Amino acid sequence: MSGGAVVVGGGLAGTLAVAALLGHVETVTVVERDRYPERPIFRKGVPQGRHLHVFLSGGQQALEKLLPGAGAELRVAGAHSMEMPRDVLTRSPGGWHRRRHEGRHTLLSCTRPLFDATVRARVLAKAAGTGTQVELLEATEAVGLLGGADRVTGVRVRSRDAGRAERDIPADLVIDASGRGSRAPKWLAELGRPAPREEIVDAGIGYVTQMFRPDAPMDAAVVLQPRPDLPRGAAWSPVEGGNWLLTLSGVRGQHPPTDGAAVLDFVASVDEPLLHTHLTAARPLSPPYGFRETSNRRRHYDAPGGVPEGFVVVSDAACTFNPIYGQGMSVAALGALALRDTLADGGLRPGFAAAAQRAVARAGDTAWLTAVGADRPYAEDADATPPGAAERLQTWYFGRLADRATHDPVVGAAFRDVTCLAAPPSRLLTPAVALRTVLLPRRPGPASIPLRVEDAAG
Ligand SMILES: Cc1cc2nc3c(=O)[nH]c(=O)nc-3n(C[C@H](O)[C@H](O)[C@H](O)COP(=O)(O)OP(=O)(O)OC[C@H]3O[C@@H](n4cnc5c(N)ncnc54)[C@H](O)[C@@H]3O)c2cc1C
Repeated sequence: MSGGAVVVGGGLAGTLAVAALLGHVETVTVVERDRYPERPIFRKGVPQGRHLHVFLSGGQQALEKLLPGAGAELRVAGAHSMEMPRDVLTRSPGGWHRRRHEGRHTLLSCTRPLFDATVRARVLAKAAGTGTQVELLEATEAVGLLGGADRVTGVRVRSRDAGRAERDIPADLVIDASGRGSRAPKWLAELGRPAPREEIVDAGIGYVTQMFRPDAPMDAAVVLQPRPDLPRGAAWSPVEGGNWLLTLSGVRGQHPPTDGAAVLDFVASVDEPLLHTHLTAARPLSPPYGFRETSNRRRHYDAPGGVPEGFVVVSDAACTFNPIYGQGMSVAALGALALRDTLADGGLRPGFAAAAQRAVARAGDTAWLTAVGADRPYAEDADATPPGAAERLQTWYFGRLADRATHDPVVGAAFRDVTCLAAPPSRLLTPAVALRTVLLPRRPGPASIPLRVEDAAG
């Protein structure tokens, strides 16, 4: 164990990066712009924190490897663990997924502040036994990198308290976990390095979330995915304390309203009367909050020469996803695990930053492929060339597969393995799945919401 690291941003990804560093470096300094609240409540540095945040099973598995017992602790704190597809009623463009016990994946649902506070407390508790000293510098903002074009040697920080004093913190490794507003491209340019190549696929999704207390809670969450003839969606999911979050979404021109009086009209328009009736009897506990920056955006720090020695960019700072697929936090956990594994494989060594950056990027590949694949038809791209034969074949195959997944147990299991980020996309091409997808008839799922759980023979 040697050296010191600075983590810029003490949100979820920064906290998980600390977990990855424990036992590998002597000191970790977390530079966080906000002050952490005493209780798990919203804070400005995580503006998306009022919106529904579900945690996929691929992320849960990674979290468990980094912080054994964290999943159980989240459930004790009030997070709901829902089995898929049994407890998450999902209407896809190909109809409803049949409601049955599959026993492969769960979805964890709680408010974002509770999630972050629980994970942070667990990381700090774990640090005590590892020999790594962790310091939290709250109300402190990173404003630039130290070093030169070939090597980053620390960060310059500014206090957010009166006086706004600046100082330099030297480090052997700097991890940028400052989220979607990361200024790493500018900081690297100041060191004389080119900005990373950036890919953007933007479906133009607008998001609105409101908290409710239902009259009589449903026994399952509900997810209504947008589809070409109805490019609007809704999700209704339990969180801690007996409350539920309603998240509405719509592509460009179909954005949900942030005016409380109009929310129920939008719910009526997503064409699921049962959800509308249920919400009519629920008590709103918050105003509806909006969010507009929902594009898939990937900065290729993993390309050759993408990062100097001593600098790694993780999670939203490197790659953001359309939130309707609920992937970002899981990718943060998978990326932290990749960081830990790269550290375990020889510690901080020449070439470490590039190797870690590649591993972190690979950890997000499945999420990127699935989100971008689904969003491409909605993205506005004036320069887009018409799809070639290979892309048309891919669209044909995945369209059939997604429809069969609604009711076919073999295809459905593979579909969930991939969309829950627990298996790579190649899982969708295994012989059993491919044969059923191609040879069996393309049949949509049930047309109406499945209220009863099917028995095992169903
Ligand atoms: C509307 C919406 C809904 C979402 N829903 C889901 C979901 O259901 N499931 C899911 O898995 N993901 C979801 N996501 C994605 C998820 O929010 C992100 O992937 C996740 O928050 C990434 O964590 P992060 O730590 O990288 O960034 P953040 O959580 O944004 O944290 C960044 C931290 O860095 C700090 N910071 C920023 N700049 C500086 C600086 N210069 N110096 C010091 N500190 C700084 C901030 O204060 C903050 O604490 C959603 C996103 C949005 C926008």
